[in-house]
Amino acid sequence: MANRWAASVKGVAVAALGERAVVLGASMGGLLAARVLADFYETVTVVERDALPDEPANRRGVPQGRHVHALLPRGGQILDGLFPGILNDLVVGGAPVLDDGDLSKLYLSYSGHKLLRSGKVPVDDDATAMHMPSRPFLESHVRRRIAALPNVTILAAHDVTGDEVHLQRALSITSHVVHKFARGNGYRLPEHYDEQWRPVLDYNLDQPGDRFRPHGVTIGHLMEWARLALHVRTALIREAVEPPAWLLDDARALFDRAVEDGWQQADAERDQTEGFVYTTDFDANPVVADRLHWVVTEAIATAWTLALVVADEPQAQAYRQWFDRWVEHAREYFVDGAHGSWRHELDPQNRPSSHVWEGKPDVYHAYQAMLLPRLGEVSSFVDGAVRLAP
Ligand SMILES: Cc1cc2nc3c(=O)[nH]c(=O)nc-3n(C[C@H](O)[C@H](O)[C@H](O)COP(=O)(O)OP(=O)(O)OC[C@H]3O[C@@H](n4cnc5c(N)ncnc54)[C@H](O)[C@@H]3O)c2cc1C
Repeated sequence: MANRWAASVKGVAVAALGERAVVLGASMGGLLAARVLADFYETVTVVERDALPDEPANRRGVPQGRHVHALLPRGGQILDGLFPGILNDLVVGGAPVLDDGDLSKLYLSYSGHKLLRSGKVPVDDDATAMHMPSRPFLESHVRRRIAALPNVTILAAHDVTGDEVHLQRALSITSHVVHKFARGNGYRLPEHYDEQWRPVLDYNLDQPGDRFRPHGVTIGHLMEWARLALHVRTALIREAVEPPAWLLDDARALFDRAVEDGWQQADAERDQTEGFVYTTDFDANPVVADRLHWVVTEAIATAWTLALVVADEPQAQAYRQWFDRWVEHAREYFVDGAHGSWRHELDPQNRPSSHVWEGKPDVYHAYQAMLLPRLGEVSSFVDGAVRLAP
């Protein structure tokens, strides 16, 4: 871990600090902490008590949001450094901005004492302007930027709160990612998008093995999204809502695509060992052929879930066979019996390597893959834990 360089601060490389950071509270402080931590931790999880609104809206946890707020120039500079272009987004979205010191544009009244509304105050040319978005408007912009970071997750969900709105949101997100973006691209899910949610297929072409934002298709994510779609389907059935047929159809198609593009059979003539490549391009050619442990663990979890969901169909047998095969593959190559852990990464010959990541892996992918077969059909791991609880 000590040799891993996560980010550059003022030109000085800074070592990665760890694998998972957890932030409590998804307001301004928590969101900005998550943004900074995302450069130094493999994953960052933000836990929030409130249901977070899609739109700029006041909420219980931030009562001061109803008061007038100003974003002072230095705060604006820092925000724009962390989220390039965010000040412009605020202005385009309608936030007033004060950049000429003209007091006639301000109406401020403290306990009935009004601030002078004529003349000008000196303007510091080095400072950016003072922006005056409402507190919820600012927070919603920051939240949207944070939600777009691939290694940050904000937790506030249906299984915890029982609030139907979260289930509908999960369906809506799955519909966009799986039914629209993945299906629309032959189930080779684009990973990167511009601000209008248009896929950017050549993103990071020049650094395809980027640790956080690799170029191309990430096979493990095809598997993971297939399973998430099935969890949403289970949650809808539990709520007595007829699930759309595409949830299962697309999950199967994602699984098939991941196997077809990503699973390499052993082939002695081509000096090829069996295993999942990490990423491919959009024509199914391997880009990073190293094997990351989390890809096979996601494949194990998805094969198991599919077998369970279609248990009455002949196809269930095939999913079970993939499950057995990948469990065996993981045991043979990834499980490090000597040290009681997993090897994070193997090279294309299935020897330990560290081209993408160094050090031991975050435990949750392996843990989930081993746990899932003991839980039965679940809508999430929280759901499984609740059902098993005495
Ligand atoms: C009247 C007023 C005017 C202000 N004006 C300005 C201004 O003009 N400019 C300015 O920059 N600042 C202003 N501030 C200050 C600014 O509002 C705060 O500094 C800022 O909101 C602090 O952000 P925070 O993320 O630290 O905390 P908060 O915004 O208070 O957020 C705390 C978060 O933690 C969550 N939470 C709480 N308990 C739990 C739990 N157990 N588990 C999970 N989540 C939890 C809450 O739901 C909430 O999302 C003003 C404050 C007030 C009161």
